[in-house]
Amino acid sequence: MKTSDLFQKKTVLSFEIFPPKPTADESVIYETLNGLANLQPDFISVTYGAGGGKNGSKTIQIASDIKHQYGIESIAHLPCISLSEQQAIEILDSLQTNGIENILALRGDISPDTKPNGRFCHASDLISFIHERYDFNIIAACYPEGHSESNNMIDDINFLKYKVSCGVSHLITQLFLDNDDFYRFRERAEIAGIHVPIEAGIMPVTNKVQIERMVKLCGIKLPKKFMKMMERYENNPTALRDAGIAYAIDQIVDLISHDADGIHLYTMNNPYVAKKIYEAVHRLLAVHR
Ligand code: FAD
Repeated sequence: MKTSDLFQKKTVLSFEIFPPKPTADESVIYETLNGLANLQPDFISVTYGAGGGKNGSKTIQIASDIKHQYGIESIAHLPCISLSEQQAIEILDSLQTNGIENILALRGDISPDTKPNGRFCHASDLISFIHERYDFNIIAACYPEGHSESNNMIDDINFLKYKVSCGVSHLITQLFLDNDDFYRFRERAEIAGIHVPIEAGIMPVTNKVQIERMVKLCGIKLPKKFMKMMERYENNPTALRDAGIAYAIDQIVDLISHDADGIHLYTMNNPYVAKKIYEAVHRLLAVHR
């Protein structure tokens, strides 16, 4: 199923997972999936190592297993910055052979570990390439606080509009901790003429290292309310986890009340956290919009 078909019926709930590290025990991901599958999300997306490197075969395998073994729709992420045209074709052919219908097409982060190939400089280059040659449903990323490299929000929205026009059927946001950023962004997108569903990306912050990494990588803003919570519980891991779950639930309830098209939960491969959130919100998601 193409994930774009899901949004007409209900507020979508989806999960994101990442493949295990090359050195890790591969079976762990299936324990994670057993826990997540019980929650019957609308789809699960699988990240792809920065730069579109060789470990992508795990992304393809896991996305295929989610769909064919667990009977849940899947999305395979695909960052393009390091890919040649030939490599992109090989990966896309493999996704097609594995019966995967949905791709989250990304540029990928630019870092010392990623060597740009020069063929695909922006996600829109990959999206046009896929759209012209294949029948995949294409999803893309967006940034309620603006992308960290962007000069300003106007440029960012204009580039996003172009990206969507290349063949995108729905958008998923980067995590944000202040819903007002999401509402402002959604309004700007609407005014700019971007009319595809926008799923709100929510990350339950359950430890300090995790959020410090995200601030460094994505430059997201930490609201006062959130900082207060971190200060109070940072030395008590169980209390911090519970507070992080409660913060995410509070965000999600507010987003559903404000008619968000969907909630994309960055699960960090943690079924316990996903289950707690699911139990708190799943009946609210089912109420017709
Ligand atoms: P783009 O859409 O190309 O945008 C990047 C920057 O370029 C923005 O500042 C934009 O305004 C600007 N821009 C866009 N088009 C143009 C243009 N034509 N001319 C000039 N400037 C332009 N990374 C991974 O490596 N693997 C993953 O699995 C992964 N999953 C992600 C999932 C989600 C939901 C999100 C939000 C991000 C994910 N990322 C992942 C991170 C992503 O690769 C980075 O955020 C990256 O820096 C930007 O990717 P993009 O696809 O949004 O890029």
